[in-house]
Amino acid sequence: MITFIPKNKFSVFNPVIMAMIGWVIFFSLYSILKNISWTERYSAYFPLIGETGLDAVAVILTFKLWKKNTHIPHKKLFLILSISFVASFMADLIYNVVLNLFNFKYENMIIVTLFDTPFALFLLLQLIVWANLILLNKNVLSNGKNTFYIPNVILSVLMFIMFMFGISWKINYFSAIGLFQSIDTILEVSGFALATICLARAKNQLIKFLTIGYLIIVSSDFIIRYYVVSGSIPYLSPFESTWVLGFLIICVGCYLSLKEKNNEDFRLLPVNSLQSQITIWSLILWLGSVLLFIGSNYLFSEHYGYKQITPGFLSILVPFSVLSIIGSSYLSTKISSTLYRLENIINEFIETDSVNISGLKKQIEIINHKNPTKEKSKKFEIYEVEKLSQFIMKSINELQSTMRIKSEFLMNMSHDFRTPASGIYHMSRSIYKKMNDSELKRLQKLIVDSSEQLMVFLDDVLNYSKLDSNKYELNIKNINITDIIKEVILFVSAKAKEKMLNIDYHYPDLPINYNGDRLMIHRIILNIVSNAIKFTDSGSVTIFASVEELAQKKWVMIKVKDSGIGIDEAHHKFIFEPFSRVESPETAKYPGIGLGLSHVLLILKKLGGQITIESTINNGSTFNVLLPIES
Ligand code: ADP
Repeated sequence: MITFIPKNKFSVFNPVIMAMIGWVIFFSLYSILKNISWTERYSAYFPLIGETGLDAVAVILTFKLWKKNTHIPHKKLFLILSISFVASFMADLIYNVVLNLFNFKYENMIIVTLFDTPFALFLLLQLIVWANLILLNKNVLSNGKNTFYIPNVILSVLMFIMFMFGISWKINYFSAIGLFQSIDTILEVSGFALATICLARAKNQLIKFLTIGYLIIVSSDFIIRYYVVSGSIPYLSPFESTWVLGFLIICVGCYLSLKEKNNEDFRLLPVNSLQSQITIWSLILWLGSVLLFIGSNYLFSEHYGYKQITPGFLSILVPFSVLSIIGSSYLSTKISSTLYRLENIINEFIETDSVNISGLKKQIEIINHKNPTKEKSKKFEIYEVEKLSQFIMKSINELQSTMRIKSEFLMNMSHDFRTPASGIYHMSRSIYKKMNDSELKRLQKLIVDSSEQLMVFLDDVLNYSKLDSNKYELNIKNINITDIIKEVILFVSAKAKEKMLNIDYHYPDLPINYNGDRLMIHRIILNIVSNAIKFTDSGSVTIFASVEELAQKKWVMIKVKDSGIGIDEAHHKFIFEPFSRVESPETAKYPGIGLGLSHVLLILKKLGGQITIESTINNGSTFNVLLPIES
């Protein structure tokens, strides 16, 4: 199945839109209350309820995600997130109650320690989450260039220097507040660096929401803290409402993820993916132009050396960088989403041996907007992508007609050749029976065997090409697998006896019923059992049949185990390709054209089944066939 990126539905009921509206209302009401003299006293309740409320919601949602997720490394991240929000709940509660409601002074060491400790813990845990996310995805295909991370590191170092030394601190670095400010700054700049990397490489919505929310929180905190260390304005600043926006975004992301049916995967894109490259390069451009701007200000201002850039301007570098990275992440997702679809289609084309061409064509039509009923909202036309998809479509059409010609040619050829081959076989057999001369009889036996082989080959080609060119219609009926295996054993018993091989069959007492095409199932089992006998010179062939429950589905399992020549692991995939034979002195003495197993695979694909091999050279082989009972 091709999996697409989730659709971005636009409606007022969209949780994202609702969160934005909620935030605007919060911000407006808060500003009004704060600016009217007789309500100013009560305005502090606003951030108290808003912030702690959202913290609590974030705790609950991430806890639920922890419970829902089954993949241990990802589960762990939700738990860390949940604990981090408990810490931010504590910090917000103490901060708002003590500083804003009871108007204690920020200089009080105990108070500072009381709310800054949980806050530092919140920052630390978030930092751990981003670092873990990157580590979890360190094996994701990439060009291995760590230079990708350089702009982030530069930005973080710059922010750190700017905050610690670019603005005049009214607070002693070594006081309790000074120490907490320094610790928070280190945690925030490192978290900023890692979170921007995660956002640039984010593959799913949840990572985007979590990182954007965190970056907004960090940038608003940076401004608040700028005013704290420079002693400029009261602590309850309007930037606290941006803090609320950050938490709202985190909660919306978690809520949407909880509603998803599947487990949320913490997957990142490769470093060299289009999305991460665009995002990081726009960050470089933004940062580069700001640095040039600041530099040129120093050089070209009216009075040389006059610093026109104020520390206040530097403090908004962080929120601006966050805005830049959010904007570029949005743009890059939009650009690359069409390419992803194309990439998915190409991947399916490469990975599946038998391609569902009409399915592929439909997917490409959607990209080219030729299918107006579906996915209208996805319209973001890029000339190059359209050209590329048109080219792929053209190639697929050509491939389709070539494949049709190929299998029809094979079908006609094998059909026409079969009649004379069958004539030679039957005539030579009757001549052989009537012959008395032993030397002539030996020669005649060669003709009988060769013509029989020829007929088997032609039958193989005919059956395969019929199925491949969809000329064969599956005839699904309720069949008894146990009986079909018995029939196959009977059919091959003469060959097995000739080679003095034992055939053991283990099956359950109850019959194994299955809805499928009798002829096709017979063909699968016959192919595998015949191979087992063909490639085994001594020992035994054992067949097991059972009903198994795997991945919450019921399957018929047929296991064919032999003690024959075995198959080198390097050939396990290859032998399922049409006309593939393992060429070795061992296999040279066994006739065949290498079509049997590809035929088996083709049938299994049509029935939704699977086949696996366990085999090493000289140690026998086991073929496991799984047929889904539901289909
Ligand atoms: P064919 O038997 O006509 O060569 P198949 O597609 O059935 O074609 O098998 C492909 C190849 O896989 C064989 O040529 C052989 O090398 C290998 N093979 C299949 N089954 C076995 C087996 N049970 N033991 C060893 N080799 C096997």
